[in-house]
Amino acid sequence: MAIQERLMQVDNLLQKALNFEFLTVEEGMFLFENAALTELMYVANECRKKQVPHGKVTWQIDRNVNTTNVCIANCKFCNFYRIPGHSEAYITDIETYKRKIEETIKYGGDQLLLQGGHHPELGLSFYADLFGQIKQLYPNIKLHTLGPPEVAHITKLEKSTHREVLMALKAAGMDSLPGAGAEILTDRVRRLISKGKCGAQEWLDIMHEAHKLNITTSATMMFGHVETLRERFEHLVKLREVQSRKPEPAKGFLAFIPWTFQDVDTLLARIRGVHNLTTAEEYIRMIAISRIMLPNIKNIQASWLTVGKSVAQLCLNSGANDFGSIMIEENVVSAAGAPHRFTSTTQLRNQQYEWREIPEAIVEQVIDY
Ligand code: SF4
Repeated sequence: MAIQERLMQVDNLLQKALNFEFLTVEEGMFLFENAALTELMYVANECRKKQVPHGKVTWQIDRNVNTTNVCIANCKFCNFYRIPGHSEAYITDIETYKRKIEETIKYGGDQLLLQGGHHPELGLSFYADLFGQIKQLYPNIKLHTLGPPEVAHITKLEKSTHREVLMALKAAGMDSLPGAGAEILTDRVRRLISKGKCGAQEWLDIMHEAHKLNITTSATMMFGHVETLRERFEHLVKLREVQSRKPEPAKGFLAFIPWTFQDVDTLLARIRGVHNLTTAEEYIRMIAISRIMLPNIKNIQASWLTVGKSVAQLCLNSGANDFGSIMIEENVVSAAGAPHRFTSTTQLRNQQYEWREIPEAIVEQVIDY
């Protein structure tokens, strides 16, 4: 394509983006590969201004507590899990939850992100009992729990249906379903890096079922490993389609969070030689293109934990409007080399993106690197 023609095509597609039209996989890839970074940043920021006009950067205080590190999924990028029977295997007990929740409240947190491995013996009653116990002790703590792969695993153990499992988890106290375990939603990639997890279609089906049950969710993408550029765009389009099918008044995916593969000591890096080569520019481009490709998902979150604060701050001028959680505790990506921590930004929110006041008696966490 001649340069003039290419520039015209970039302009046409940026105009489509400003009109909130759905761009195809090919159109998105064309923009990603041909638009100047500044053009993408400008257009994504204009879209953000219309979708999130208040201009505040939202953030949240929560704690990631792992239910168990026992897992049989064997993902090639995960340093967190232990096989059943391993000397370091654990299932978190209620006394530990109590201590961690009380610390969370002290630090101003209002939510637990509860996730863990695919334990071969922990089925629906384990999670329903756990959620029920926590809610009985701390009725105001929100539970942002599990993820589609864990729901798929529980469904398989129970020989049940996604709908029944989600209904039971919701009744037990699950407030929202994180978009964990999406990685890249194509089966080629999943076979290579996370064969033991649910396939792409099952991940999407579980999210659609959650939306039908009016459970709010988020969506993620972990990139910078074995995926192609086309597969990233297929991922975005699949999320957009699920969001388009959500019934009213369900909120569906409240946010999209793209983050980069953390490679330190992972099997993917050690055995396959796969390293995360994503540059700061590429991450900012992905944030901008996410805002453009996903006009029906309102909040785009910059993953400061994986790319660092300064890159994440640039993302705030490139379509992102949210910094996610300051995360009192996080063990999974930190175990693969994401050391970033900090303690404050601007407008505190809850999981539903409703604004909160910073609690008066909040205690600042002392971080010991
Ligand atoms: S990422 Fe999750 S599912 Fe995969 S091995 Fe680690 S704990 Fe298991």
